[in-house]
Amino acid sequence: MFSVLRFSTIKNLRNVRTFASSTSNHFDIIIAGGGLVGTSLACALSKNKILSERNVLLLEGAPPFKGFECGEYGNRVSALNNNTVDFFKNIGVWEKISAARFKPVKQMQVWDASSNASITFNHDNFSENVAYIIENDLVLDSVYKELESAKNVQIKNLAKIEDVDLEGLATKSVKLKGGEEFTCDLLIGADGVNSLVRKQMKVDTYTHNYNEMGLVATLELDGNACDNSVAWQRFLPTGPVALLPLNENKSSLVWSTTPEMAKKLQSLPADEFVDELNKAFVKEYPKNEFVSNALRVLDTIMNSDSQSSRQYPPKVRSVVERSRACFPLGFMHSSSYVRSGVALVGDAAHRIHPLAGQGVNLGFGDVKCLVEVLADGVYGGATLSDKLVLLKYEKDRLVHNVPLMLGIHGIQSLYSSSFSPLVLLRSLGLQITQNAPPLKNLFMKKAMG
Ligand SMILES: Cc1cc2nc3c(=O)[nH]c(=O)nc-3n(C[C@H](O)[C@H](O)[C@H](O)COP(=O)(O)OP(=O)(O)OC[C@H]3O[C@@H](n4cnc5c(N)ncnc54)[C@H](O)[C@@H]3O)c2cc1C
Repeated sequence: MFSVLRFSTIKNLRNVRTFASSTSNHFDIIIAGGGLVGTSLACALSKNKILSERNVLLLEGAPPFKGFECGEYGNRVSALNNNTVDFFKNIGVWEKISAARFKPVKQMQVWDASSNASITFNHDNFSENVAYIIENDLVLDSVYKELESAKNVQIKNLAKIEDVDLEGLATKSVKLKGGEEFTCDLLIGADGVNSLVRKQMKVDTYTHNYNEMGLVATLELDGNACDNSVAWQRFLPTGPVALLPLNENKSSLVWSTTPEMAKKLQSLPADEFVDELNKAFVKEYPKNEFVSNALRVLDTIMNSDSQSSRQYPPKVRSVVERSRACFPLGFMHSSSYVRSGVALVGDAAHRIHPLAGQGVNLGFGDVKCLVEVLADGVYGGATLSDKLVLLKYEKDRLVHNVPLMLGIHGIQSLYSSSFSPLVLLRSLGLQITQNAPPLKNLFMKKAMG
């Protein structure tokens, strides 16, 4: 199905401005990495009126994508925000996703197992849904299908980049395993958290290992979960456990916990795993009397009832066979996203904890911004490698990404502590926000994009 996109069958590049005059191994833009972010970047470049005649090569180390079918739900899903959905609409991808399947989230409930402080976000507070739960493979499939009509993009699979030379003034070059070499005016690293492009840029990175794994799985819910449109997240002392709705009776799990516990949960017999999971949402943890009293006082002052207003998630009945998988979780931020003729997007530039479901949303935001900035620059007469143009991209994204990433990192740190003053601080913060609609709306608007 995707053979038309493979490099071995180079398409007729009628629309490529520089291809005929350049050597066959030179491209205007090379994208290193064809994950969610790299492929959507190729698609966005093909849709932009100013850039759609620039020849683009997408290099992906993995074999060609096998496609997507609406059978059993995949275990890798993302909570995508409204900005991402708008971006997908603009690059022609949303139509394909919505024709297949997605689940709008109408409410989100988050609560703290150490104090029972909770917060609920409703879509009624906003005109739009809180988020959309979509399988990663469906996004990839939809982007690949849209790329089939992109005249300026070539995709080469099984193209593992082994070396990157960024020292050339006019061109950057990449060398694949096997020896093949390509050059370009602009090299974009979309090659994930261990980005080779970033390493060759020799930029500083701030990294933090959470010493947590994210256990994912597809779950079947008990009986009547109604329309199952609530996303649930409970902060346990070992990390947050979250249920993301997929349809009326299925949800996706993201359970962040210690590596030892994640491995144990992954290997438990299915029925024991389901028992542990159901317990994780209802189990009572030791409460600090001082924190509980403070919350009761706050309830009285704010005329609220935090304990009875909280609902509980639907009971999980079973876990889909072979759907359990573990992923390491960490924080990484590159001190710089660009240098002359080079830019980073997505996890190659930044990586965050999945507790707020923002990682790939930030990546799609990078793509949208980079394409707009490049198009403006080229329209104004700049080259694709112009550092001043690329610096504008970096500045715009740092202003957006850094506060959000620090906020999520802060929440992760705050919730991984059982130190009473911190439990008090976070519980009061959650409870005050819950009872202060303007504050709650502000947080929600930030998270919704
Ligand atoms: C458990 C979990 C849950 C998550 N949930 C959410 C969520 O709900 N919402 C959200 O927004 N984000 C979420 N995220 C984050 C999200 O998954 C990532 O941000 C996203 O996948 C990053 O995409 P990417 O394309 O930048 O990088 P990647 O997915 O890492 O893709 C990089 C690509 O580059 C290729 N590559 C790497 N090196 C080379 C090389 N040398 N040569 C050629 N190709 C190469 C790889 O094969 C890969 O295809 C979650 C993450 C985890 C772990």
